[in-house]
Amino acid sequence: MHEILPDNTNPKSVTISRKANRWFVSFKVERKPQNTEKLVDVVGVDLGIKSLATLSTGEVFVGAKSLRKLEAKLSRLQYLNRHKVKFSQNWKKAQLKISQLHNRIANIRKDTLHKLTTYLAKNHSQIVIEDLNVSGMMANHKLAKAVGSMGFYEFRRQLEYKCELYGSQLTVVDRWFPSSKTCSNCGFVKESLLLSERVFNCEHCNFSCDRDLNASLNLAQAVSSTVSACGLDNADVAR
Ligand SMILES: [Zn+2]
Repeated sequence: MHEILPDNTNPKSVTISRKANRWFVSFKVERKPQNTEKLVDVVGVDLGIKSLATLSTGEVFVGAKSLRKLEAKLSRLQYLNRHKVKFSQNWKKAQLKISQLHNRIANIRKDTLHKLTTYLAKNHSQIVIEDLNVSGMMANHKLAKAVGSMGFYEFRRQLEYKCELYGSQLTVVDRWFPSSKTCSNCGFVKESLLLSERVFNCEHCNFSCDRDLNASLNLAQAVSSTVSACGLDNADVAR
């Protein structure tokens, strides 16, 4: 193969790997941080079950729709392959198909997550996320799949290095912060909120809002409120 690398790149190392019968060459290159122009100051991001992420700006990343179909196809293939004689030609053929599909699913996931984290780091000065209690969530079966497959740790890892790369700031809010149960309009905290309640209805101020959007607004406000509180303190001192 032959491919021209971007200008001024000096590969530090080259790795050749094979996945599901296909060969890959990857280069490690060093990139200098570049500060991008930020469109939004503070953004809160809520990782969800129904959609991949909801931003306090109102934007929603739904995640790849094709995934569910491919996953169904994968489990069908695995089911059909269950009685084949191990290491027979037919078994090998089916195994290859299974691993190719596995790879395709993994690549789609990686791609969606990268697009989301790049978009966040490039266009927002400050990104606020929640420190998810992943092991606690795994105990809850309904949440387990969403968190596990969307990879919270990978999401955070990518955000950390991309924020450095594009000159933005990542803030991780304490996991006990009640982002879902708090009203983003008046600050009232509900005692409980069922997972099935998709809309947040405040009994205090009658505010009504999509559950995930409400959580992301609270995350964004968790930071701006401390910022404005500092501003007020300074103003008091000046007076
Ligand atoms: Zn309220």
